[in-house]
Amino acid sequence: MTASLPTHADRLLARSFANPSSVERVVRPDTLAIVEDEVMACRTCQRLVAWREQVAMDKRAAYRDWEYWGRGVPGFGDPHASVLVLGLAPAAHGANRTGRVFTGDRSGDWLFRAMHRAGFANQATSTAADDGLQLTGAWVTAAVKCAPPDNTPLPDERSRCAPFFERELTLLTDLVVVVCLGAFAYEAGCRHLGVRPRPKFGHGVEVPVPQGGLTMLCSFHPSQQNTFTGKLTEAMLDDIFTRAGTLRAQA
Ligand code: SF4
Repeated sequence: MTASLPTHADRLLARSFANPSSVERVVRPDTLAIVEDEVMACRTCQRLVAWREQVAMDKRAAYRDWEYWGRGVPGFGDPHASVLVLGLAPAAHGANRTGRVFTGDRSGDWLFRAMHRAGFANQATSTAADDGLQLTGAWVTAAVKCAPPDNTPLPDERSRCAPFFERELTLLTDLVVVVCLGAFAYEAGCRHLGVRPRPKFGHGVEVPVPQGGLTMLCSFHPSQQNTFTGKLTEAMLDDIFTRAGTLRAQA
C-alpha cells in the first residue's frame, strides 16, 4: 500500500520548530522542506517577530476564536512548479493568522480563484491551511516571510530574509515564469534575479531574466484597493495566468 504524502498542513502541525544544527546543514542537501522548517522557526528580525506576535495576541474581532499562526510563513505548492507567484509579505490577519501564504484574506480569494480557473489550483477557495487546497505546476511565496507593520518591511528586513527566497528559487528547478503581484514584489524579484536596470512596472509587463531562462510577468496586486476600484479585474488576472500558461508551454 502506498502511503499518501504529507500535505503542507500536516507539516505545519507536525514539525518541531527547532533550527537544524550546523552539522545537519552540512550533511543534508537543502530541500524545500528544510527551508519551510527554518522559515517557521526564524526569529531573526526583532521588529517583525514582535509585530507578528502582537497581532497574533490582539487578533481582529472577526477572528477572535482563531489561534493565530504568528510565525514566519513559508511558500507552498508544487515542488515541480514552472510558475512561481511572488508577493511581498504575509498579511497580518491573513497568512499571519492561517499559516499559509495568501490564505484567509481577500487578496488570496482573488488569487486562488484565478489560479483555479487557469488550472493551477484544485479549488477556488483558500481559507485555512487544512482546507484541501493543492497547487499543480505552481508555487506561491512572498519575498519577506513575516507580516510587517503597514505591509512594509524595512530594507534590512528584506535583506535578512532574502536567502529564504533565493533558496526557493534554487530548489524549484523547473521554473519558467515568476508572476510578480504588485510593484514591491516586482522590485524584490528584480533584486533577487539580478535584473538591472529594472523596466517600469505595469500590468502584463514581461521582463526576461538574463540568467536561467526565466520570464518575470507583472500583475497588479489583487489588493482590495485595486479590486474595489476596478484597477484590477478578474479578467485582467485571468490574462496573467493564461499568459503564464503559454510561456510554460513554450519553454
Ligand atoms: S522576515 Fe524572514 S529573516 Fe526576518 S524573522 Fe521573518 S523569516 Fe526570519
